Amino acid sequence: MLSYPLPQYHYLLEVTRTLASSLDLHEVLQRILESAAHILQGQVGLLALRNRQGQLQVVAAYGFPRTLLPRFRPLLEDIPYSRTDMGFRLSRQDVLARLRLVSEATQLNLRQVVAIPLALEDEFLGIIYIFRTSDEPFTLEEEYLLRAFADHAAIAVRNARLYTELQLERNRLRTIIENSADGIMIVDARCRIEVINRALSRMTGWPPERARGKTAGTVLHLENATAPDPCEGLKRGETLKEQVYREGDIIRPGHPRITVGVTYTPVFDEEGNLQYIIINVNDITRFREAEEMKSTFISVISHELKTPVALIKGYAATLRREDVQWDEETIREGLAIIEEEADRLNQLIDNLLDASRIQAGGLKLEKEEVDLRDLIQKVVKGFRVQTAAHKIVIDVPEDLPPVWGDRERIRQILSNLLSNAVKYSPKGGVIRVGAWAEGDYVTVYVADQGIGIPEEEQARLFDKFYRVDSSLRRHTKGAGLGLYLAKALVEAHGGRIWVHSRPGEGATFFFTLPIAKGTSTGREEGDYNDKGAEG
Ligand code: ADP
Repeated sequence: MLSYPLPQYHYLLEVTRTLASSLDLHEVLQRILESAAHILQGQVGLLALRNRQGQLQVVAAYGFPRTLLPRFRPLLEDIPYSRTDMGFRLSRQDVLARLRLVSEATQLNLRQVVAIPLALEDEFLGIIYIFRTSDEPFTLEEEYLLRAFADHAAIAVRNARLYTELQLERNRLRTIIENSADGIMIVDARCRIEVINRALSRMTGWPPERARGKTAGTVLHLENATAPDPCEGLKRGETLKEQVYREGDIIRPGHPRITVGVTYTPVFDEEGNLQYIIINVNDITRFREAEEMKSTFISVISHELKTPVALIKGYAATLRREDVQWDEETIREGLAIIEEEADRLNQLIDNLLDASRIQAGGLKLEKEEVDLRDLIQKVVKGFRVQTAAHKIVIDVPEDLPPVWGDRERIRQILSNLLSNAVKYSPKGGVIRVGAWAEGDYVTVYVADQGIGIPEEEQARLFDKFYRVDSSLRRHTKGAGLGLYLAKALVEAHGGRIWVHSRPGEGATFFFTLPIAKGTSTGREEGDYNDKGAEG
């Protein structure tokens, strides 16, 4: 082993320190070259690495202006090297011949040169050159010394490669986590968040920069959880040995409830200590809703079917009794109830059939020009006789253009909205039905002064079998199909349906239908800004 005199030792130490402290390859190589030049008392130095195409490219230079770089070309092109047991070797004669060319071209008076290949295992990485302007040749010791610097440079290259690879791998991983449709959090052994991805940030409403450093339970707080939070367990000194799965709801004011399935996967280091936990959050709201809908469907339908059937059966059985002589009045009343209930059953069956037809994509419309003003008047007339508690007002301009649609289906939409307006304003009041034309569409509205609908329920109103939970709901009949059908029918016409409502202040449902071709008004959208909302 070679032992170095003190200044040389100092320089090598300096190089090692640079290697350890800097990730900038160019900076490290420049420092190595400068140190080598100092220690070998060279005036000029050059360090070149092979690029992807295998050509040598200067990455560090010392002792001459950059403008002279191209003139070093003879020492960079087609350098012959050989491999021995000791590593790569350059031909001394060849290098000296090239030195003369470069010295002339650069006018730098380069007299002596020492060139050492940079190698990493079997790979020829590049060359480090140190030049002298004096005639004093480089000794064998100096050549050995430069070899040590070359080895350091090769290590720097390897580090840089590893670092780049690591960086690429990290970026790839980050991209995967960031863009995953599932929520992902990586927390440390104390459940403090290190990484939170976009999907989870969206679900919880926590921006990543605010979530980082908080505990998992603060950011992902579950209501109605099916199992305890393993992070709470860790806090109490329990251990987390294997994967834990729990479900629960993320509830945020003003946002729809999100039901999630959360998996906690612990990751351990070599000694078996908990290093971090990967928390995977799956949005299972739809799945849960489908489950709930199934059971709601069964309970609603059985209830809705059972009531009329029970009434029909009761009245029929009573009227049929042979031991009683019913007077005509009682018989008529009984039969009227039987007829009414049969109608209700029929209506429900029709609705169910329509709903399944819509789901199967088999809803057919028979479109024609429809005079909405006339249709609204007819539908309203039917409702006026059904309720004494409500005053139904019609607000439709005489020149309302005809729409293009299926008359019976439009009647169904209007009936559903009107029947809701009556049902959900148990104290009576004014129900206003109006319409106006705008651009290519007529907008129709039905406004009541009833119980209204909380904001957070409004988005789901139009779902199948959805009924807002309230005490009134429990006292009103309905299968939660009316608005679902209304929406499907409106959309089948190419229109839109929506609601404006505040609890306690009534509700206004709007829908649009296309104006029959050739009759559209010149009015532009915006002329009637939510005109019906005040209704
Ligand atoms: P149903 O009336 O059979 O329950 P719908 O689909 O017609 O079903 O309506 C769904 C839910 O929307 C109702 O249960 C009710 O809670 C709410 N809703 C509908 N119309 C109104 C209204 N005009 N005012 C208040 N709530 C309404």
